[in-house]
Amino acid sequence: MKPMHVLIGVDMETDVGSFTPFYEGAKRGTPLLIDLFKEKGVQGTFFFTGECARENPGVARMVAKSGNEVGCHSLYHETIGDELFPIPGVKPLLPHEVKPRLALCKSWVEEAAGASTTSFRCPRLWGSTAVVNALEELGFTCDVSYPMYFYREQFAPYHPNRKDWTKRGDSTLLEVPNFADMTMESKDPGLERDRDQWPLFRTEGAAYMLDRSKAFVKFCDDKNIPRVLAFYIHPWEFWPMKSSYHFGEATVIPDEFITKNCGEVALRELGLLIDGLLGMGAKFATARELAALYR
Ligand SMILES: [Zn+2]
Repeated sequence: MKPMHVLIGVDMETDVGSFTPFYEGAKRGTPLLIDLFKEKGVQGTFFFTGECARENPGVARMVAKSGNEVGCHSLYHETIGDELFPIPGVKPLLPHEVKPRLALCKSWVEEAAGASTTSFRCPRLWGSTAVVNALEELGFTCDVSYPMYFYREQFAPYHPNRKDWTKRGDSTLLEVPNFADMTMESKDPGLERDRDQWPLFRTEGAAYMLDRSKAFVKFCDDKNIPRVLAFYIHPWEFWPMKSSYHFGEATVIPDEFITKNCGEVALRELGLLIDGLLGMGAKFATARELAALYR
């Protein structure tokens, strides 16, 4: 049987993405995820923002001790790459800001976790050429950022071009596309985000997600490319999230899909999804392991 790899990346950040300053999910959801992975005999990669690691060093150490991989996810969840849609008050970093902030993120995460880091994921999957080049220079070996639903060119891990990260080249960094169901018709012109896998395991359920995983595997087989399914999830999805948050001078009301089924339902469905993927013959790999496999 053709090999099939699954990479589960857990983006360690504030509750409901970057729209609150709270870490309930990181504190309470992370141990649940570590237990689930252990029970299923799989490992994941936990990408910490520098701030998340620095404010929750116990969580960072817990992940490192569990044998799961610790990676990086920017300093403060800022827009480090090319933005795909605007977010008020969050402007993309200037190219010269990218490398020093990545270096700082790496040192904060490593100090908190007591482990070295070689893998990265951009907030919102918004990568760029400047980011992959800086990652390579800083000794990272894997970036799991490329949003397949948006660029629609790379469907399997590749070494990016130093002049355009979305093309193949000879960077030593491995770029791993986050999978999307490229076989379905998109009803989201331009962005086509509805093909993306997140957060369907939680909002639609494991059975639906497995169907989309099977469709993507068939897509890979038809193209005769390796079957690699990279998922992204967050610790806050495994703890009940509120429908609104007041802090500072405003109230944030997340879109319904952001908070739907966060908590027990999400944990149950993720467990069922892992069972189903194992049933399809999937081998779970960390980002570091995948980079070594493709070296
Ligand atoms: Zn994130």
